[in-house]
Amino acid sequence: MTDNSLDNQHVLVTGAGTGIGAAIAVACAGAGARVSLVGRRRDPLVALQASLGQGRAHVVADFDVTDETKVRAGVAAARGAFGPIDVVVNNAGEASSAPLAKIDLATWMQALAVNLTGTFLVTKEVVPDMIAKRSGRVINIASTAGLVGYAYVSAYVTAKHGVIGLTRSLALEFARAGITVNAVCPGYTETPLFERAVDNIVAKTKRSREDARATLASLNPQGRLVTPEEVAETVLWLVSAAASSITGQAIVVAGGEVMAG
Ligand code: NAP
Repeated sequence: MTDNSLDNQHVLVTGAGTGIGAAIAVACAGAGARVSLVGRRRDPLVALQASLGQGRAHVVADFDVTDETKVRAGVAAARGAFGPIDVVVNNAGEASSAPLAKIDLATWMQALAVNLTGTFLVTKEVVPDMIAKRSGRVINIASTAGLVGYAYVSAYVTAKHGVIGLTRSLALEFARAGITVNAVCPGYTETPLFERAVDNIVAKTKRSREDARATLASLNPQGRLVTPEEVAETVLWLVSAAASSITGQAIVVAGGEVMAG
C-alpha cells in the first residue's frame, strides 16, 4: 500500500543530498510529499531528485544555510516551485573535533553558523508560510550532542545544545499557531559525516578504521550504528497528523545511548 500521509505537502529539507537528509527526503517523498532538496552542492541533489520520480522533488543548490541572502533566495525558489512550505527539516550540519586549546575562533564560529544560526535563518524564512496557514511542522536534526557533553567536540556540542534551546523556545512561541517544533537527536549514524569522524580518529590515533568504527558503535547500548532510515522514520512520525500534540521535544534515536528527563 502506498503511504500518502503527506499528501502533496511541501517539505523543505536542508542538507538533503547525502546521509540523514537524503533519507528524510526519500521517506517524505514516499509518503506523498513534494520535497525541496536544498544544499550547497548541486550534484548529489540532482542525483537524489532523479531517484524520486517526476514532479516529486525540486533542487535548490548553492543554498548555504549560513548566508541570509542565499537562504532568502533559496526559500523563494522553493516556494516558486511547490508553493508555501508546510514542513521544514533543518538537517544541514557539520561536525569537527579538537581539544579546546586547538579550536580557533573561525572554527568555533563556523560550527555555530552551520549547526545553529543556519537553523535560525531557515526557520525564520519559512515560518511566515506556516503562520498564514495556521499549520506547520519544524523539525531540527540536533544530536545526542544537543543533550549531553562529549569531550573534544565542544563547538559542535555547544551548537547542538543551542538547537535544542531554539526548538523549545519556538515550540512555545508557536504553540497556539498550529505549528509544532521538535528536535530529533541521532546517535552515531552511518553517513558521510560519520565516515569523516572515523577518518579523523584514524589520522590522529593511527588505529584501524574497523577499530575506530567499532569503538563509536559500542557507545550505542545496542552495539551498532543508527541508520539514516531510522532517523527518517522518526521525522515522518513527527510530521504526521498523529504527532499534533508533540512539540518542544528532543527525540533521541540512539539505541538508548542517552536517556534524558
Ligand atoms: P552529511 O551526509 O555530511 O550531511 C550533511 C549535509 O549538510 C550535506 O549534504 C551538506 O551538503 C549539508 N551542508 C553542510 N553545510 C551546509 C551549509 N552551510 N549549507 C547548506 N547545507 C550544508 O552528514 P549527516 O550525518 O547526514 O548529517 C545530517 C545532520 O545530522 C547534521 O545536522 C548532523 O549534525 C546530524 N547528526 C549526524 C550524526 C551522525 O552520526 N551522522 C549524529 C547526530 C546528528 P553540502 O555540502 O552540499 O551543502
